[in-house]
Formats: sequence, structure tokens, C-alpha cells
Amino acid sequence: MRLSRYFLPVLKETPAEAQIVSHRCMLRAGMIKQASAGIYSWLPLGFKVLRRIEQIVHEEQIRAGHIPMLMPTLQSADLWRESGRYDDYGEEMLRITDRHGRDMLYGPTNEELITDIFRSHVGSYRDLPLTLYHIQWKFRDEIRPRFGVMRGREFYMKDGYNFDIDKPSALHAYNRHMVSYIRTYERMGLQAIPMRADSGPIGGDDTHEFLVLADTGESEVFYDAAITDLKLGDRVVDYDNRDECAAIVQEWTTPYARTDETHDEAVFAGVPEDRRRSSRGIEVGQIFYFGTKYSDPMGATVVNDKGERVPVHMGSHGIGVSRLLGAIIEASHDDRGIIWPEGVTPFHCGIVNLKQGDAEADAACEAIYAALTAAGLEPLYDDTEERAGAKFATMDLIGLPWRITVGPRGLKNGVVELTSRRTGDSEELTPEAAVARVVEIYAGI
Ligand code: ATP
Ligand code: MG
Repeated sequence: MRLSRYFLPVLKETPAEAQIVSHRCMLRAGMIKQASAGIYSWLPLGFKVLRRIEQIVHEEQIRAGHIPMLMPTLQSADLWRESGRYDDYGEEMLRITDRHGRDMLYGPTNEELITDIFRSHVGSYRDLPLTLYHIQWKFRDEIRPRFGVMRGREFYMKDGYNFDIDKPSALHAYNRHMVSYIRTYERMGLQAIPMRADSGPIGGDDTHEFLVLADTGESEVFYDAAITDLKLGDRVVDYDNRDECAAIVQEWTTPYARTDETHDEAVFAGVPEDRRRSSRGIEVGQIFYFGTKYSDPMGATVVNDKGERVPVHMGSHGIGVSRLLGAIIEASHDDRGIIWPEGVTPFHCGIVNLKQGDAEADAACEAIYAALTAAGLEPLYDDTEERAGAKFATMDLIGLPWRITVGPRGLKNGVVELTSRRTGDSEELTPEAAVARVVEIYAGI
């Protein structure tokens, strides 16, 4: 993409309404624009990162054997009356009446809708296990929407639902989700710690929240520092192998890690004192096993291998896709702006032309642009007439992890400059070597 043809409405001033760094960065970098309280338009740069995050979520869900689909945002109230949640959900539910006077709602989550799909089409244990998921907009009429996309009213969520014949199978689905979520967040350059949590209105006994440590987080968390050393890395996981998934879950849930809702001082005291930590965290996901809470009242049953009709065991599993943009920025920024991890960056590499209009500099930039593009990468080429300082400030603000700077002086010596946004370190290389280096960096992502 050439910046001269892109739509990147960066702001010079820091918007007064933004209280936290991620919100400020997203507004300043022209990623989002508030449409009304807690509701945002996703401008091109923000939309690009949203799509990158969504793509990683899809890849890891599909790798775990979960099946993508799409359910609507608007739902009929009838199903929610069946489960008993129409009244329970309270004021967070946006209720709508259509022209025929029918009660509708903008879905805050999808347990009812998916259970209805299941009971309409699945009747035998032979069709299990089954895990369906979608990534769709949700609406919760939060009393105090704030912090930009972190606590919106309309937000984008991955929600998945497992259907299993019995509790052990459903707990395997729970474990599979935990492992796939750990991998998902790692690919985004994030450490999200699974913590024992409280189930709230979804219901159920087994639940973990995934928290990204950040001062601006809304949750209070307590953990054993040992958990921050864990990494899944390149480990190959067989998601059908119950023991293997259970062992990984065991590894991640053995060190103490809980939110304030389930925190227990007495148990925490058992953690060696120098490893006891308390801090703030941002919830970026949650998994639940809730047994037959929905299948019982809604009649989602299958015939088991003995010919008996039994309710299915279910769980639901969510990732806050739009919230993740805020969480990643909270975890990765400096005073000049965002620092995107390579896994989610909107463009792989910036190209800054220090002297637009200089025939040699223009040609070198074009060649680098073409070479990166041919290698399957997306560069953002600042081909505007802005002065160098302003170009650097924009690149730093929007946070591309790598920048190639091209100027007539360097070109006289046959070199351009490759700069890391994270460390600020620069290296002089030939244009070909700079391209090769960037290609190599992304080959491992
Ligand atoms: P919270 O406690 O932050 O209100 P929740 O526990 O009610 O969230 P879940 O039902 O667990 O939310 O939804 C799954 C994920 O969706 C959450 O882990 C979070 O990342 C995201 N999410 C929930 N509410 C919002 C919101 N208002 N804005 C943006 N993301 C949200
Ligand atoms: Mg939650």
C-alpha cells in the first residue's frame, strides 16, 4: 500500500476522552472512530489488525478440530425464554421489537441459538463430539462503556460451543480449548494466563479466564510468577489425544493463578513468597464447562450407545477479538506509539522515502516495495511529500515492527537502513539484504 493512496487519518493531538494508552493510540493512529457510546467504526488500519487477529483465531480453532459457521446478530426472544435467560440477563441485553410486535434481541452470546441448531439436526451419539464456533458481533448494553474497544457495547467475539456425550468427553473439549487458546494468544505476541474464575450468568462450575497482565486491566489477579515462564512455542499438539491435552492443562493450571473472584489467601500463602504476585489483568477470553445447563431445559438430547435418550454435555468458549487490539497495545507500546508484534501487524514493513521526487530514492523504494510484495508481504510505503521527521513520527505511532529508510545519501554508498520499532536499533544494508532480512523474519511467524 502507498500511503498517498491510503486512508490513514492520524491525529496530531491526543484526544481528551481517551483515558488509557491503547484507546489514545487507536484514535491517534486513525484505527477507529467512535460512532456512539461504546460503538466504533473500524477505519482501514484498525480493520486490518482486526482481520489479522480474526485470522489467527480461525486458524487455531480449525487446527483444534472446531468447525466455523456464522449465526446472526439478531435473535428471537423465544429461545431465551426457553432457557430462562430472557429475564435473567437484565439490562445488558438490547431488546428490540419488530414491526409485528415480536420480541427480538441483539445477541450478547449464542448458547440458545446454537443449542436450537443442535437439537434440530443432531440425534445420535455417533454425531459426537461436535464443536461449532463463529466470530460475530455481539451487543451488551454495558452501563459504562469505556477504554475504546476494550469495553465496548458492540464488540467482536469468537464464541464456540462443544457438544459431547458425557462429562469426560466434554472436559476433553474444555482442555482442547485451553490449549488452542494458549497457542492463539502466543501467536499474537501475548502472554494470556489462564486463571481460575467465576462463571457469572453463563453458569457452570469449571471455568478459566485468560488474562493479559497490564496496569490498566479491570480485573485484580493473583499468581505464582512461575506461570509466566511457561510457553507452548512450537510444540506439536495432537488435539485428539486426551492425555496430551490434559497434561498441558495440568502444566498451566498447577501454578497458582486466580482472579479476585476466586482468590484464596490461604492457598496463595502456599506459594513461595518471592514468587507471589498481584497485579491487574485484561480478560481476553474465557472457557466454560457447564454440563447440561442448556441441553436440559431446551431438550438437546442424543441417543446413546445403549439406546437411551440423554442430554448432551456442553461448554462455551469465548475470545474477545476486538478487545484484543486494545490488550495487545496495552502490552506493547512506548511513548511514541504502538509496537505491533509481527503476528498481528497491519503491514509487515514500512518504507520511508526521505526525498520523494529524487529519481534514485524513488526507484530504490519502488524496487523494495516490489520485492517485499513479491515475497508475499504487505509493505506500507510512505511516498508522501512530508518531511522526514513527520514520516518517522507516523511510522512510530502506527507501530509497524520494521522500517526500511531510503535516502539519497545512503544510496550513494549503496545502503538503506533497516530499523526495529521495538529496540530502535538500525542497521545499514544493501536494499536486497534489507528485503531478505525482513522476508526471513516473517518466514518464522
Ligand atoms: P467482562 O467481565 O470483561 O465484562 P465477560 O466475562 O462478561 O467480560 P464473556 O462472556 O466471558 O465476557 O465474553 C468472552 C470475551 O469477550 C471476554 O473474555 C472479553 O474478552 C470479551 N468481551 C466481553 N465483554 C466485552 C465488551 N463489553 N467489550 C469488548 N470485549 C468484551
Ligand atoms: Mg468472561
